[in-house]
Amino acid sequence: MKLVLLGAPGAGKGTQAVRIAAHLNIPHISTGDIFRKNLKEATPVGLKAKAYIDKGQLVPDEVTCEIVELRIKEDDCKNGFLLDGFPRNIAQAEALDKMTKIDKVINLDVDLKALADRLTGRRVCEKCGESYHVSTKKDETCDKCGGKLYQRADDTLETVNSRLTVYEQSTAPLIAYYKDKGVLVNVDGMQSIEAVFESVKKVL
Ligand code: AMP
Repeated sequence: MKLVLLGAPGAGKGTQAVRIAAHLNIPHISTGDIFRKNLKEATPVGLKAKAYIDKGQLVPDEVTCEIVELRIKEDDCKNGFLLDGFPRNIAQAEALDKMTKIDKVINLDVDLKALADRLTGRRVCEKCGESYHVSTKKDETCDKCGGKLYQRADDTLETVNSRLTVYEQSTAPLIAYYKDKGVLVNVDGMQSIEAVFESVKKVL
């Protein structure tokens, strides 16, 4: 199954994507993760993306679309994949339509007002990517794998505000885009992590 996971920054896309991909045994493709890996390794793509990521803006479409096009051609994507964080605007969605046919788009529906707090308090495991929130996680060690938790450089208040604006202006219109195509399913993203996952499984 070829899936897209849609939702605002902090809606829980990464958290759910790990679970959905394992459940369906398909690769989880996060453009944000790909950019962060390139940034860490200081590759040409990473250096190009840095200025945009630091400001909470979108990396140019031609860079992002090429990365996705190459990735979904890889062998492990033969039986499907889950895209997390792509597409982020209508131009990327149109480019994706030219690459392949998406079976379903899961939109994690959340209250935008809750997101700034979710994002600025977020801590992520550097090893397995699991997310926590400082209000409930008091130490800096991942419960799942023992990895060290860190705060993403773009989870600061200023960058978060700009990412939320980008979401509202560029990404939210994708909800209507995919609804029109008849592939959109909405899931209430304000429930607990497990309840969201159960709801996602029901609509798959
Ligand atoms: P994420 O981990 O999905 O929140 O992405 C982190 C940052 O990577 C975003 O704020 C963008 O700067 C960049 N990024 C990730 N996915 C995309 C995309 N599909 N198009 C453009 N930029 C992206």
